[in-house]
Amino acid sequence: MINEKMYGLGSKRSSIREIFEYAKTRAAEIGAENVFDFSIGNPSVPAPDTVNETIKKLLEETPSVALHGYTSAQGDKKARDTIAANYAKRFSVPLSGDDLYMTCGAAASLTITLNALYEEGDEIIVFAPYFAEYKVFVEGAGAKLVVLPSDEKTMLPDFDALKKAINKRTKGVLINTPNNPSGVVYDEKTIQMLCAVLQDKEKELDKRIFLISDEPYRELIYDETTLVVSPMRYYADSIVCYSYSKSLSLPGERIGYIAVNPRMENAKAVYAAVCGAGRSLGFVCAPALFQRVAARCDGLTADLSVYKRNRDLLYTALTDYGFTCIYPDGAFYLFMKAAETDAKAFCERAKEYELLFVAGDDFGYPGWVRIAYCVQTEQIQRALPLFKKLAQSYQL
Ligand code: PLP
Repeated sequence: MINEKMYGLGSKRSSIREIFEYAKTRAAEIGAENVFDFSIGNPSVPAPDTVNETIKKLLEETPSVALHGYTSAQGDKKARDTIAANYAKRFSVPLSGDDLYMTCGAAASLTITLNALYEEGDEIIVFAPYFAEYKVFVEGAGAKLVVLPSDEKTMLPDFDALKKAINKRTKGVLINTPNNPSGVVYDEKTIQMLCAVLQDKEKELDKRIFLISDEPYRELIYDETTLVVSPMRYYADSIVCYSYSKSLSLPGERIGYIAVNPRMENAKAVYAAVCGAGRSLGFVCAPALFQRVAARCDGLTADLSVYKRNRDLLYTALTDYGFTCIYPDGAFYLFMKAAETDAKAFCERAKEYELLFVAGDDFGYPGWVRIAYCVQTEQIQRALPLFKKLAQSYQL
């Protein structure tokens, strides 16, 4: 009667959502100030003022019918041209507005890209830990998710495993940098190595292997030495999936884009397939007002100093208490080794101290937990003594 797969997806909450909901119930019981919810990646810093000013200006400047009407399916031409020109300048790649497709955020960028590329029997490779929704997106497009390990010390891809795993059915490799949940940023050398492996494999197997780069956290980096590069510079068959959800703190407004590398063979055909997938998934066009807002605010960010402060505070304290943590160069997550083998049991013990975070099992990485530090700094300050008690309960 109904699609069982969709029923399964719709009737079960993700564990992140479960914990998020638990936090609300617990807050009603003991008071919000006594619950320390580090479960969800909802930006805690407001959108820059320029966003609201731009919205007001657009409402004043543009006749309502034009402002709120449908745009072209691929997005408003002026918005695409502006965003592409900024990208081209920043990353020294020849991107134009005709290579850009505006979307309803990174989730839409990914589902559209995967549907545009998918053919029967295809495999998409990801490296654990990975954003849990990838499984839903990849399988929803009909492809198979192949999960490969990362190096436990650096959380960077295991290239030997990659070389072994790529085969005739491999359609793409999906990366996410800065990474959710590890906070790790792939540096230029890592991107170059990854691209070199893919180039060799394309030649060896005589087939296209797309590098899909999911970059909603691209702007969320905290150290001047961390360099963010575009995979388009090093690999022709690359597609960037972007979103303004985190950089501009606009997750509810659903705005982002797909950039198809114009240097790839048949780039126009791939772009047309992106348009086709967007159409078949019923997206029609991305939110018209926010396409224009994104274009005018592209390059701005919310106040990242708050996340940097949170990161420094949490990383320093937790390592000091004896926990093993991955140093997060970017995004707003800290990945920490659970103090016992079973990360879910560790999360349950943390709950006794009202500390709520998510087991790495959900990110294909058992034995670790993700702590989302996109919260008020004061929440972290008040939570630290509880983290200390948690560490002491394991005699760390
Ligand atoms: N990709 C990753 C790695 C994410 O963490 C998220 C959201 O948290 C998304 C994609 C989806 O982002 P959006 O809200 O822009 O659809």
